[in-house]
Amino acid sequence: MSFKDVTGHSKPIALLERAIRNEKVVNSYLFLGNEGIGKKHVALQFAKALNCLETMADPEDSCDHCTSCKKIDHGLHPDVLLIEPEGQNIKVDQIRQLQRELAYRPYEGKRRVCILTAADRMAPHIPNTLLKALEEPPLHTVIILLANNSRFILPTILSRCQPIRFHPLPIPLVSKWLREGSGFDEAEAHLLASLSEGSPGKALEIQEEIRQIPREELLKEWVGLKTLSFERIGSWVGSLPSQRENLLLILEVAKTLLRDLVIAKTLKRGTNLIHTDLVQVIEALATNWSLSSLLKRMETLHQTIIEIRANANTSLALEAMMLSWAEG
Ligand SMILES: [Zn+2]
Repeated sequence: MSFKDVTGHSKPIALLERAIRNEKVVNSYLFLGNEGIGKKHVALQFAKALNCLETMADPEDSCDHCTSCKKIDHGLHPDVLLIEPEGQNIKVDQIRQLQRELAYRPYEGKRRVCILTAADRMAPHIPNTLLKALEEPPLHTVIILLANNSRFILPTILSRCQPIRFHPLPIPLVSKWLREGSGFDEAEAHLLASLSEGSPGKALEIQEEIRQIPREELLKEWVGLKTLSFERIGSWVGSLPSQRENLLLILEVAKTLLRDLVIAKTLKRGTNLIHTDLVQVIEALATNWSLSSLLKRMETLHQTIIEIRANANTSLALEAMMLSWAEG
């Protein structure tokens, strides 16, 4: 794997390649983008390109087969450090180790590359230790901080890094990656990609949970059901998981089911559905609905997801949503 084999992220990669070409590689980068989007992967390809021993064919990219490239792929290169959270957060000892390592010149590579994942998840006293490393970066060193969100990073750290933004990948690209890279069939790849928020890592992470969600039952007994009695509302709210992340995933799936009902109502048979395996159920249910009622139900669900994400009481938010659904 090298830059040219990475799925998506052409702008960040072009920027890094340009820096190599123009000898303008800076000491500190901050890669910003959603969890699982591919920041670490690109950072490792950058480390390979900077240290590759065979640069004749393509000086801006790695060859992917020299000893340096192979060592980096296997996590065995002494000059490429990957620091990931131990448990929930980056620990102060890990940053101290980073500082010690930075005191030395590269052992065998051209540049020492330190990749620090979850830079937005550090205990409060740690960023100051990191700041010292960023203030006086040794020669031949590149520090790459990876973070989902710059809001949780000290301005003093932000100001010392060149930010590079990673945007969500288009759904068809995530779907293609799942099919070609991980062997998913077309229907499951499309479903996972649609729920991935443009992040291949998230698609892989949620695959098991998604498989366990009874989508057909959700559709027939809840999302696509026109008449909701109080008893049914009570039993549904009681049956949903209390753990917020699991509940949100079910609600996101419910949203895609409603979205498919809207599509079935408005477009040609079987066009552009996410749940292609449920096409017959979706088309049959769609005939019971008016488009405006479906859109209203979808809007209420969307608002409920926003409220639950913002820490609203889950039972109350769900009950309010279902009562609104019951009113039609
Ligand atoms: Zn190489």
